[in-house]
Amino acid sequence: MKCPYCKSENISKRGKRFNKSETKQLYLCNKCKRKFVEQNGFERMRYNKKHIVRAIHLHNEGLSLFQVKDHLWQHDGIKVSREAVREWCNKYSIFLK
Ligand SMILES: [Zn+2]
Repeated sequence: MKCPYCKSENISKRGKRFNKSETKQLYLCNKCKRKFVEQNGFERMRYNKKHIVRAIHLHNEGLSLFQVKDHLWQHDGIKVSREAVREWCNKYSIFLK
């Protein structure tokens, strides 16, 4: 866990922030004195089943891995690597037949 501003690891916990769906840990950086919340956006982003199913369909319809990746980004705002798309196709296409 590092400060997103100055990358210092000298941080301490400062209570929690609540909203409807989640609780986020608040932190204070002891170096630059800025507050920030727990970083769990992109690292832990899980892909929706709907997006995986669509990706596999698009790929089966003849789109390249790159085009599938691009489609997900343009239409759904989902960032995914070509490798991930390929992995989904390998892993899940058997369930969609
Ligand atoms: Zn800092």
